[in-house]
Amino acid sequence: MNIILIGPPGAGKGTQAATLVKKHNMVQLSTGDMLRAARTSGTELGKTVAGVMDRGELVTDEIVIGLIEEQLKAGDVSGGFIFDGFPRTLAQADALSELLSKVDQKLDTVIQMTVDDKVLVNRITGRFTCGSCGEGYHEEFKKPATHDKCDKCGAADTFKKRADDNEVSLRTRLMAYYKETSPLIGYYYAKGQLEQVNGLNSIDRVGLDISKVMAGVS
Ligand code: AMP
Repeated sequence: MNIILIGPPGAGKGTQAATLVKKHNMVQLSTGDMLRAARTSGTELGKTVAGVMDRGELVTDEIVIGLIEEQLKAGDVSGGFIFDGFPRTLAQADALSELLSKVDQKLDTVIQMTVDDKVLVNRITGRFTCGSCGEGYHEEFKKPATHDKCDKCGAADTFKKRADDNEVSLRTRLMAYYKETSPLIGYYYAKGQLEQVNGLNSIDRVGLDISKVMAGVS
């Protein structure tokens, strides 16, 4: 099954995608993660996108569509794909449906994670990850058992925050979301592919609601 998780920054898309990977053996395609990896490895692409990402603006359609195309051609599709943070524009949505049909795949459902904008600043500014295994944490909602040690892999002093997880970038990211990405909600609704879950619920509850949606379309 191929699904899109859609919602503003901080809606919980990455968290839920990670659960789906484990539970359903799906492949997570996060353009944000791919771009951050390009930055970490210091590629030309990474250098090109660094400033745009730190400001919270959108990278060009051409770049992200290219990244997704590569992954769709290379990926193990047995469990299906979770598109996380892609598509973010109508041009990306059109490109995705073309790319999927080229590899004889289709989009099964689009799950919108609804949240209240007021909670986003807190969710975003409080989050951090383990630099060693990538496990996600939050200063309020998901603290590690020991303050400087990862619960999952045991690495010490590796916690890090994203450069764009600050209030100024978040405002720009939210504006980009409302201007460029939110039209996709109407677009997929009109295609009969949109489902909604309440992203304000607990992580486990949101996960259960997503599983229910997926069971309903399979
Ligand atoms: P994310 O991890 O999804 O929050 O993405 C982090 C940043 O990467 C965004 O603020 C954009 O600068 C860039 N980015 C990620 N995915 C896309 C996309 N599909 N289209 C344009 N820019 C993107």
